[in-house]
Amino acid sequence: MCGIVGYIGHAGGDRDYFALDVVLEGLRRLEYRGYDSAGVAMYADGDISWRKKAGKVAALDAEIAARPLPDSVLGIGHTRWATHGGPTDLNAHPHVVDGGKLAVVHNGIIENFSTLRAEIEAAGIELQSETDSEVAAHLLALAYNEGETAGDFQASALKVLSRLDGAFTVLFVHDDHPGTIV
Ligand code: GLU
Repeated sequence: MCGIVGYIGHAGGDRDYFALDVVLEGLRRLEYRGYDSAGVAMYADGDISWRKKAGKVAALDAEIAARPLPDSVLGIGHTRWATHGGPTDLNAHPHVVDGGKLAVVHNGIIENFSTLRAEIEAAGIELQSETDSEVAAHLLALAYNEGETAGDFQASALKVLSRLDGAFTVLFVHDDHPGTIV
């Protein structure tokens, strides 16, 4: 289990659009815990943008320098210590699903992930990574897009969390909810 950072700033104040700086600094402060990959998801102008890399935060910095992110008020970040799937760019967090609408970072282990993965695959969804974490992202997309919690981000997240076994921390952001990190 490594580290998670989430930050919601203020548009219109001294710290306008500094979310990326804050999140990256948070990840640097967590480096002492050890990790194999790092990534961020930032919200700006109705869209989530993300970058992730196997290796140190310095490798993520280089990726962001090569492919800059928009100035953002809100963001989440992650350092990964792989438990499910190797330390690759694809397995690094965030996991972004539902056509780029929803991003998840997760530390820890989802112990019932095999059962949940089979359920998601049976719904016709192809998972992109080997992680247990991506399962949480797809379950949230399903809960948000249909059924009794449709359209309610927090209720959908609570519904998903009630189905996950294990010890973990997870952060969700959604395109439709610009001021919220669950
Ligand atoms: N189980 C997750 C993975 O393998 C998260 C590991 C962690 O705590 O960083 O991606």
